Amino acid sequence: MSEAGTPTDDGGRDFVRAVIHEDLVAGRTTSVVTRFPPEPNGYLHIGHAKSICLNFGVAGEFGGRCNLRFDDTNPIKEEMEFIDSIQEDVRWLGYDWGEHLYFASDYFEQLYDWAEHLIGDGKAYVDDLTADEIREYRGTLTVPGRDSPHRARPVDENLDLFRRMRAGDFADGARVLRAKIDMASGNINLRDPVIYRILRAEHPRTGDAWCIYPTYDFAHGQSDAIEGVTHSICTLEFEDHRPLYDWLIDNLPVPSRPRQYEFARLNLTHTVVSKRRLMDLVRDGHVKGWDDPRMPTLSGLRRRGIPAAAIRDFAGRIGVTKSDSTVEMALLDHCVRELLNKTAERRMAVLHPLKVVIENYPEGESEELEAVNNPEDPDAGTHPVPFSRELYIERGDFMEDPPKKFFRLAPGREVRLRYAYFLTCREAVKDDAGEVVELRCTYDPETRGGNAPDGRKVKATLHWVSAAHAVKAEVRLYDHLFATEEPGADGDFLDDINPDSLEVLRDCRLEPGLTEAAVGETVQFERLGYFCPDPDSIPGAPVFNRTIGLRDMWAKMQAKKRTG
Ligand code: ATP
Ligand code: MG
Repeated sequence: MSEAGTPTDDGGRDFVRAVIHEDLVAGRTTSVVTRFPPEPNGYLHIGHAKSICLNFGVAGEFGGRCNLRFDDTNPIKEEMEFIDSIQEDVRWLGYDWGEHLYFASDYFEQLYDWAEHLIGDGKAYVDDLTADEIREYRGTLTVPGRDSPHRARPVDENLDLFRRMRAGDFADGARVLRAKIDMASGNINLRDPVIYRILRAEHPRTGDAWCIYPTYDFAHGQSDAIEGVTHSICTLEFEDHRPLYDWLIDNLPVPSRPRQYEFARLNLTHTVVSKRRLMDLVRDGHVKGWDDPRMPTLSGLRRRGIPAAAIRDFAGRIGVTKSDSTVEMALLDHCVRELLNKTAERRMAVLHPLKVVIENYPEGESEELEAVNNPEDPDAGTHPVPFSRELYIERGDFMEDPPKKFFRLAPGREVRLRYAYFLTCREAVKDDAGEVVELRCTYDPETRGGNAPDGRKVKATLHWVSAAHAVKAEVRLYDHLFATEEPGADGDFLDDINPDSLEVLRDCRLEPGLTEAAVGETVQFERLGYFCPDPDSIPGAPVFNRTIGLRDMWAKMQAKKRTG
């Protein structure tokens, strides 16, 4: 963080920061104002996080400010629910707009006046063509556009018609207001774009005060100008709109002149980052909601237990460039693991329980053993775990007839129970179907804490929970929502949905302290991965989500690249 207006040393970390740095050095601006400008027509996703981290990030670094502005110009698709969730998500991500919360709808009156201003200057006209006709007249990349028959309407007639549009004299879609720019322009955005349309729709903030609405393109740049935004940072698809925004700014008495800079949007493998597609997933019930932990939405990632700091770290690592690319989901996973490894407390939980009876442990007795909270953080301390005659271990940690490389429990074999004792399996008890239902074992009381005084070694350490003390829980395991790297690459993206993206385990056992874990607090279940309580939890019946497994595919991929 620097003092207001003082360029920092890392001014050149990416082209956006380089531009801002130069502007400050050259005195083109004395302070930096950015904004994050969502349309409230869906929930924010990981792609938006890139934009949020960039806009709020540079404002913070250069001692400026970042506004949160809703570009709410399309009442048909906008909802209060989205306005609320977006604010919650930006705050959760760790950013604060202070008092600078704005809405394009707050500027409707000003925008309307500016539309009249263009009409008065002969730079806008009311058109009676239908939407289809306008499209047809507009031409294509290779065919120049044709003038609308109404293009030459006199100023007075335009003004009268536009006022009557506002007054509600015409049906929805009957007329539009268009900027009069250049029907032959090579840039289709300059071929007399529509800037106002008639639309009788209840607006989440202005209600039915208006029956005409500015288009996004008319509202966006002027809103930036009203707010004194110095650097209007947006994604590459708006590059072709910049000449239109500049034309509007040049032709209107706006209070400031923002400059637009475009960067590449974030694409991520195995998921989609388009609000329209995410909306389809929610509406058609492919997921449980916007905050389904499989969704790339910020609310979904949060519910899955991914810390905001990991997302900020991810945004920093992918950087800001002008060329489109797709980032591996494994990189996000890597950031999550790296952070959680340092911060998450360790606990024990058994997802597929197999009962162990320790025949030489006294019946009805129990003791407390000391478990380390976080080996990466000595200050995190320890917590007690109860141990008793009957335990659960992971079904997969036992094999009756183990192959060579299986070092865990098997008949006659000794292993370590983490934080507890050495345990030897004496017998596997089977049910009528031949399935192992219980292990009869013995323990060595001399090995309390997990070490043998005679120095003998074991090849495996297993996690466990005490049967009598354990909490029964549901655990939800998640996999990629899409089975392919680029959903929709060859057809409908819905066809690429991974049918096995959710596995629900209903008979898991957790160490008792886990009932107290707060929602949003991610812990490591030893040997299994990172998990966090889901809001579906009810007292006595916790539900946990697997945030992420322990195996780091990203680190593996990098190591492979290094060794060729
Ligand atoms: P979608 O394509 O998902 O509908 P959008 O661009 O229409 O997204 P907005 O609400 O307009 O969504 O986005 C707000 C800001 O976030 C814009 O400045 C936009 O450029 C940026 N943004 C949206 N998607 C991404 C992305 N994938 N990567 C980076 N920035 C993004
Ligand atoms: Mg948009």
